[in-house]
Amino acid sequence: MKIAVLTSGGDSAGMNAVVRAVVKVGILKGCEAWVVREGYEGLVRGNTEALSEQALDDEPINLPDNASTDGSSFNLIHNLRFGDGDLLKDGTGDHPGTRSLKGRYIVRVGFDDVRGWFAEGGTLIGTARSKTFRTAEGRLQAAYNMIKEGIDALVVCGGDGSLTGADVFRAEWPKLIESLQSEGRITAEKAKLHAHLRIVGLVGSIDNDMSMTDLTIGAPTALHRICEAIDNINSTASSHSRAFVLEVMGRHCGWLALLAGVSGGADFIFIPERPPTSESWEDEMCDCIHRHREVGKRKTIVIVSEGAIDRNLNPIKAEHVKDVLTERLGLDTRVTTLGHTQRGGRPCAYDRVLPTLQGMEAVETLLEATPTSPSYMIGIRENKITRVPLVEAVEMTRAVSAAIEAKDFEKAMSFRDPEFKE
Ligand code: ADP
Repeated sequence: MKIAVLTSGGDSAGMNAVVRAVVKVGILKGCEAWVVREGYEGLVRGNTEALSEQALDDEPINLPDNASTDGSSFNLIHNLRFGDGDLLKDGTGDHPGTRSLKGRYIVRVGFDDVRGWFAEGGTLIGTARSKTFRTAEGRLQAAYNMIKEGIDALVVCGGDGSLTGADVFRAEWPKLIESLQSEGRITAEKAKLHAHLRIVGLVGSIDNDMSMTDLTIGAPTALHRICEAIDNINSTASSHSRAFVLEVMGRHCGWLALLAGVSGGADFIFIPERPPTSESWEDEMCDCIHRHREVGKRKTIVIVSEGAIDRNLNPIKAEHVKDVLTERLGLDTRVTTLGHTQRGGRPCAYDRVLPTLQGMEAVETLLEATPTSPSYMIGIRENKITRVPLVEAVEMTRAVSAAIEAKDFEKAMSFRDPEFKE
């Protein structure tokens, strides 16, 4: 079997460990391992250059300026340096040192090519937001490029958007094969060989916002980053007896804010899932912080999740929290928005272990797949690696997002935790 792995959507720590695990375990199980650069965009672009012409080209790789993306710029790979390892044992382009990947987005890799990748931040094979993959023509081209290289199975590591894309691709696959055959782009024999798409999803997201899994790859590292930031801020806050309001990521999910608050000793935490209990959160927060100050606390830390809302479901913004603390309590208050420092850097140990275990499970899942078995998302539940039908995980996550966007807080919570009672 030829297994290809791609990383898509927002980068998260641990994505490289996924690629490493899939490549190594895949090869150990007798498969060929491939990587797709730049997420779905790489699948759509495929390989336009013959490898042999490339072999000794050591130019930096730049995607064209007119690259079609969803808006955010590409995470360019410059000189992705594969080691000589056992890359391309078939002889085509087997050479020591480096080689350019210009015009080649679907690349076969060897066991040694991913050595040490578990400790690297971000994603070394690149990620992108691909507009073209959202179109039927884009996905048709992606299917063609996969078949052209003989790829039988795909591992997608990304957030809920990427896994939605994976689910769309899975559902549409028979139609795509039919179109490719009727257009004469693939033979009947190839169409038969690739009649079913083996696809598996791994959740790479710092937000921990995917349904049907307890933890997403990258979330523990982001939590560490926030925790370190709070420790750093605590020094100044204590020294000057100041208040700090920290805005943290997480989109609609308060997991990062809540756990950062618990692990960093915050005085007050605002998360989307549980708005403050009183109509006036300003009073509630000030009472709480006043009490803390009265018992001798010299510093104040308030954490605001980027999706935080009040009882009337209006957003709570860090700047407003700062004004309240300054005006009502007379505290010297600063806002710190952690931004992308939360996302990057070396993965913590757990973001090496989790993707390694899940990457292994992903390969097993692909090897065991039958034409009638569902496509799976690999998750973790109560410390056990799990397989859940991709379609169910995607649908439930979408339902939660839709409920949150419609500000139907109770409905959103009922999806997350059926036992939930305020
Ligand atoms: P994340 O995976 O981090 O949530 P996005 O929501 O940006 O990030 O999704 C990443 C990519 O997944 C998109 O740029 C697009 O190529 C693909 N994708 C997302 N939703 C769909 C969809 N409904 N159909 C096809 N592709 C999709």
